[in-house]
Amino acid sequence: MLSYQHAYHAGNFADVHKHLTLYSVNNYLLRKKTAITYVDTHAGRGLYPLATKETQRLQEYREGIWPLWQKRDQLTDPLLTDWMDVLTGAQPAPSELTHYPGSPWWFGKSLRTQDQLRLFELHPGEHQHLAAQELATQARRIYGDGLDGLSTMLPVATPRLCVLIDPSFERKAEYQEVADAVAYTFEKARHGVVLVWYPLLPAGHHHVLLDALKTSGVRKIWRSELLLRELGEQTHGMYGSGMLVINPPWGLDERLEAAMAQLTPYLGDESRYEAQWWVEE
Ligand code: SAM
Repeated sequence: MLSYQHAYHAGNFADVHKHLTLYSVNNYLLRKKTAITYVDTHAGRGLYPLATKETQRLQEYREGIWPLWQKRDQLTDPLLTDWMDVLTGAQPAPSELTHYPGSPWWFGKSLRTQDQLRLFELHPGEHQHLAAQELATQARRIYGDGLDGLSTMLPVATPRLCVLIDPSFERKAEYQEVADAVAYTFEKARHGVVLVWYPLLPAGHHHVLLDALKTSGVRKIWRSELLLRELGEQTHGMYGSGMLVINPPWGLDERLEAAMAQLTPYLGDESRYEAQWWVEE
């Protein structure tokens, strides 16, 4: 039984980390003309109006996209200013932040005729929302399990592959399942770019994912973490956001490092970013 709904968390600091990384990876991939199959294994709704009851309940965007948006005129980093321009394009009225776009939107906005996009969503209500979104014709929305769906697609027909695995981690077993899915993808599409998001929680379950990948045989795993606060004494709640990029485009680390250096002060005094290879070539 799925209960997670991303609308409660839309636009939070983890979304900023995830979508800025995704946007930057995609910018690199778009430098070549060869076709890409994009797979979003856990797509969510696609677009989140901030005024909804769900998003207003926790207002997590106030510790995420909101402070950045308000200071957008002061941003100078080219990746950040570019990303903000694209975010502005998602707003019905460009001067006001009323909607936060999810991964299907970030993937969908740069699709070229030669590319494909597969969006998997297993929650019936979330899938209905996703089905109502306006997306390019190359985008297919599939009501089903994302990791199973990904495995049946491999190897893909296009020369390149880019996957986002962004589960809700409602079950502890998902950390191992994600590691297995990454290993299988690497076996079938060795050069595919795979992004995995994971939460930093006091229970530390993400170590299951990280440790499993370390010994899986998958190479070139780059890891970045955006911490909102230090772990400290707290016993619950997400204190940081983690991303793995398998086969990261060359230059991605420096690009994001520069953007995050400008971004983190807007997320609070304790906020910090760190990145390094988890598994090298
Ligand atoms: N990727 C989205 C974004 O960046 O905007 C957010 C996704 S949210 C963290 C996780 C989503 O995965 C939820 O909408 C949930 O219903 C869905 N989900 C949970 N288990 C799933 C599964 N096995 N296959 C596909 N979707 C699943």
